[in-house]
Amino acid sequence: MARTLYANNPWICGLCRKPVQEADLTADHIVPVSLGGSNELSNLQISHAKCNYSRGNRTIEEFQDSNTDNSGWLLSLSAS
Ligand SMILES: [Zn+2]
Repeated sequence: MARTLYANNPWICGLCRKPVQEADLTADHIVPVSLGGSNELSNLQISHAKCNYSRGNRTIEEFQDSNTDNSGWLLSLSAS
């Protein structure tokens, strides 16, 4: 399952949208298991280990709102 996910090269972190190197590669649950998310491939995305860890059980929106290090890409997305 994870192998199929990881076949989608290049790897872009689903949380911070930056490229992911193989050493940092993890599968992140889009909807956390604790919130009823499944282990299906459709609920998994590539992420950095540190993004996955720092996100915890928050939703992606909550993670991005709190992740001030990445305010630059959020601004660039809203400007385009
Ligand atoms: Zn990341």
